[in-house]
Amino acid sequence: MRHKIVAGNWKMHKNAEETEDLLNELIAKLPSDVAVEIIVAPTFVNLASAVDHLEFTNIDVAAQNMHQAESGAFTGEISADMLKNIGVNTVILGHSERRAYFHESDALLASKVNTALKHDMRVIFCFGEELKDRQAHQHFNIVENQLNDGLFHLETKDWVNIVLAYEPVWAIGTGETATPEQAQEMHHFIRETINAKYGGDVAEDVSILYGGSVKPDNAKEIFSKPDVDGGLIGGAALNSDHFAAIVNAI
Ligand code: PEP
Repeated sequence: MRHKIVAGNWKMHKNAEETEDLLNELIAKLPSDVAVEIIVAPTFVNLASAVDHLEFTNIDVAAQNMHQAESGAFTGEISADMLKNIGVNTVILGHSERRAYFHESDALLASKVNTALKHDMRVIFCFGEELKDRQAHQHFNIVENQLNDGLFHLETKDWVNIVLAYEPVWAIGTGETATPEQAQEMHHFIRETINAKYGGDVAEDVSILYGGSVKPDNAKEIFSKPDVDGGLIGGAALNSDHFAAIVNAI
């Protein structure tokens, strides 16, 4: 069901002690009575301790990636079963850094999505155009293709476990944010694209997050747009005051 979500992607930041410190700060500073789902995604090695640490809080834990295979000779990789087994039920897939640095294609992501859903995990599926695509006025085509190739093989029933995160690559970690109007325009397009494929119920029920240099001073305006259901936060998620301010901006 569509609802407000603020998720923090910690990327390759924070060792075990720093993870515990940041979690303690977040527990102290984040509101416990808000109608917004709060998620943090620490690194793989700190997921189990984060799940334990957050057990009696309203903060959920997500993984930043996982492998598509059930198990096997894939040195350095982590499976859906391993995540579920330590109490992680949500996984971020398709982040632009995975696409760019680890060459994850839409076809590969589609198979990761399938594996996650098979294990009853929820997927935060990231996608978005590069600067050159927007400059060439190809951003709608690019986004439509990413949805088509990564997710549109799914059945209607699968969409209860899908959260979308539109993240224009040119706005990630750059300080350059899409204007609230640009975010709304694309989120509306995404909902219309889903409507055309799956119908109004799926389109209205899916939560669509915006990601790309969301900060305490721009969050409120972005989140006020009707098709923006929250944010996927990178840099600002590493500062408990900033992350709490963003959650409170919903
Ligand atoms: C991200 O990495 O998903 C992201 C949105 O990063 P930042 O907020 O730092 O732009």
